[in-house]
Amino acid sequence: MTATGIVKDKRYMNHWMGEYHPERPERLGVIYDMLEESEMAGKFKEVPVRPATKEELLRIHSLSYVERIESTAGQEYTYLDADTQTCAGSYEAAVLAAGGLCEAIAMVQSGELNNAFALVRPPGHHAERNRAMGFCLFNNVAIGARYAQDNLHLGRILIVDWDLHHGNGTQHSFENDPTVLYFSTHQYPYYPGTGAFDEVGQGKGKGFTVNVPLTVGYGDGEYMGIYQRILRPIALEFKPELILVSAGFDIYYGDPLGGMNVTPTGFAGMARAIMDMADECCKGKAVLTLEGGYDLEGQRESVKQVLKELAGVSKTDTRALMATAEAEILDYLVERVKRTQRQYWKCMSS
Ligand SMILES: [Zn+2]
Repeated sequence: MTATGIVKDKRYMNHWMGEYHPERPERLGVIYDMLEESEMAGKFKEVPVRPATKEELLRIHSLSYVERIESTAGQEYTYLDADTQTCAGSYEAAVLAAGGLCEAIAMVQSGELNNAFALVRPPGHHAERNRAMGFCLFNNVAIGARYAQDNLHLGRILIVDWDLHHGNGTQHSFENDPTVLYFSTHQYPYYPGTGAFDEVGQGKGKGFTVNVPLTVGYGDGEYMGIYQRILRPIALEFKPELILVSAGFDIYYGDPLGGMNVTPTGFAGMARAIMDMADECCKGKAVLTLEGGYDLEGQRESVKQVLKELAGVSKTDTRALMATAEAEILDYLVERVKRTQRQYWKCMSS
């Protein structure tokens, strides 16, 4: 019997950045409504939500930054960045987002859950040590990775980031660290500007950052191909003890911010591919956290398909999906990544 956890709390909807902001509470509203549909209701185990502790936040962010965000609590409006503001409930939502993810990781590690999806906001992967940006306050996935290492005594963590945008904050958090492998596919050149092929990490962390920048137009087959021909061999060589996923749904074909062509079936296939890697490396231990995604209907349906995959209700045929890729484009990408990564990974040298 598989148990899939979800992190869900109405307080995540108290963070509001204005009427016209795409990162809005309704993003979670439609997902939480979908969880009540007869097909989904009662299928998932709710993870008890708690705020992240100061200690957990300070592993990734500076004290002055954490205090700066804390000082926005109860304030009607604070400007942080051209795209990022807070309201009275934002700080609470942000610490609950990071804390909820940590709790989900703890329950997966203890075996109470097989896997989990943190359906939280604000998102996190753009948040830097000292700076809020790109709709993000605290870097949830980075905080979760350090929590797994420091509180749960795990060693190697793989972070897969399929959001449309490059997770600059996550990359910077671990670029000197060989114990956390960051793998990102993202539209490029695009916001936030980082994530070129040759950004591979620094010092001891060289090779433990793998960037696959993409022009627009990539769909289910190409993403599947990238996962099976680049991510999978590297993951099996790295042997993570836990896989975390920055799951952004702005690569959905109808997303207003993105130029990618992924369908709900494609998202299910990506989740399946990651679960297969987790099965081979770490007893299936994988925890997803919500990042972007701005087409409400598309995100609702895509999250649903991913959850069904995590719960084992459906099993997407990744091979069949990969067969739909544009072969030439995929071959070029694989060769381009190999050229950069072959000095770090045996599997990339052949
Ligand atoms: Zn994004």
